[in-house]
Amino acid sequence: MGSDEIASNDSKNLPMSTRVEENPPNSTTSLLSSSIKYPKPSTSSSVLFSLILTTCVALFAAIAFALLFYSSSKKPMSNLIQENAMLLKKLKHPVVIIISSDGFRFGYQFKTSTPNIDRLIVNGTEAEHGLIPVFPTLTFPNHYSIVTGLYPAYHGIINNYFTDFDTGEKFNMGSHEPKWWLGEPLWETVVNHGLKASTYFWPGSEVHKGDWTCPKFYCQQYNESVPFEERVDTVLSYFDLESDDDIPSFMTLYFEDPDHQGHQVGPDDPQITEAVANIDGLMGRLIDGLEKRGIFDDVNIIMLGDHGMVGTCDKKLIFLDDLAPWIEVPKDWIQSYSPLLAIRPTSNHSPKEVVAKMNEALSSGKVKNGEYLKVYLKEELPSRLHYSDSDRISPIIGLIGEGFKVEQKKSTNQECGGAHGYDNAYFSMRTIFIAHGPQITRGKKIPSFENVQIYNLVTSILGISGAPNNGSMSFADNIVLHRH
Ligand SMILES: [Zn+2]
Repeated sequence: MGSDEIASNDSKNLPMSTRVEENPPNSTTSLLSSSIKYPKPSTSSSVLFSLILTTCVALFAAIAFALLFYSSSKKPMSNLIQENAMLLKKLKHPVVIIISSDGFRFGYQFKTSTPNIDRLIVNGTEAEHGLIPVFPTLTFPNHYSIVTGLYPAYHGIINNYFTDFDTGEKFNMGSHEPKWWLGEPLWETVVNHGLKASTYFWPGSEVHKGDWTCPKFYCQQYNESVPFEERVDTVLSYFDLESDDDIPSFMTLYFEDPDHQGHQVGPDDPQITEAVANIDGLMGRLIDGLEKRGIFDDVNIIMLGDHGMVGTCDKKLIFLDDLAPWIEVPKDWIQSYSPLLAIRPTSNHSPKEVVAKMNEALSSGKVKNGEYLKVYLKEELPSRLHYSDSDRISPIIGLIGEGFKVEQKKSTNQECGGAHGYDNAYFSMRTIFIAHGPQITRGKKIPSFENVQIYNLVTSILGISGAPNNGSMSFADNIVLHRH
């Protein structure tokens, strides 16, 4: 999943050719939230009408009393679930499907015709200039921030691989022991409320947490060889379950593309355009399947990515061995090189001194590309990165310039391809965010935001209370419709 180390021989780092003429058409007033139709009461008989009215008032009072009664307990049918269910035609409860297209850099949607994605944008809410990933802009940290609302320092997945220095144990993308995965992911929150959740791949989804035990029927074990179409069809098949209670309230769906191609050829290559068209086709398959079941307008779809992609190439390299006249930075100090440089010096070296010496070297003008790397004690990183408050994070972190790579020493490897993991302030690291559905404001553009907001967005749509997290409670108010 999101192998971040792939390099290829191709050099294709042309400027991004965004085709503005393919911007989705402007939404009109008919797409606004006011287009929801409410049934009008019959006027044929005033007696009948008042009878119905009385019944409604009585029913409403009964429901209100019931809600009051249950509101403090952990019950699936909370106040908001019932309110939100009133927006639905066929389904009995709100459903959110969250779809991740790995490495879908913001702007890829303009590379080719994407009629299905455009349809979601025009009738839904879109982050107009993309979704901001968390730092480091890597696959595992970001996917887990999306489902927990926590920055990596707090959810524990601080890199795709790392070592716990208290125990010496190593985490990698196949580690499913609960101890690594902190926080409360959405599938756990959902099942803790007595609702069903399903995962068709997502980092962390196979980990047992709370009432979530990754049940076979609802939780697929990661296998990248499963065709994308099969993944979509399985998600659709959950809507065919006989009992409404068995239809998951929350579902995930994951595609490895276009990250896979992006690493090999960089963000600007016909292979990316082709992968984007394919992802759009899969969204079409999902929409068609929902329409055939008469529930497209009943299902909330959130389409997003985990991070962007930037071209990397031969000349954009920084070699740690070039710092030797100032300080030796040996290989066994390095927890990860690129695009997140993480250094843990042995205990006889003061991290503060190492940082000072390294920065002296890098700013001397004598280290090739030295100006594109700056190292920090993790506590002194810009606070906007939220990347210090965890023992798992190495004491020294290097911020590498966009598209540059750090290596130990010169090699004969060809180094052209694509990468991500850099500072999340780089526009190239942004990805997409589109939400569409009965509880989503139609035809709305919102400013870019960090993906830690998505946890609260989903719990708000589902009408359940969530775990504490780094998102803001008011964020969902911009997007989610509730019928009061
Ligand atoms: Zn990724």
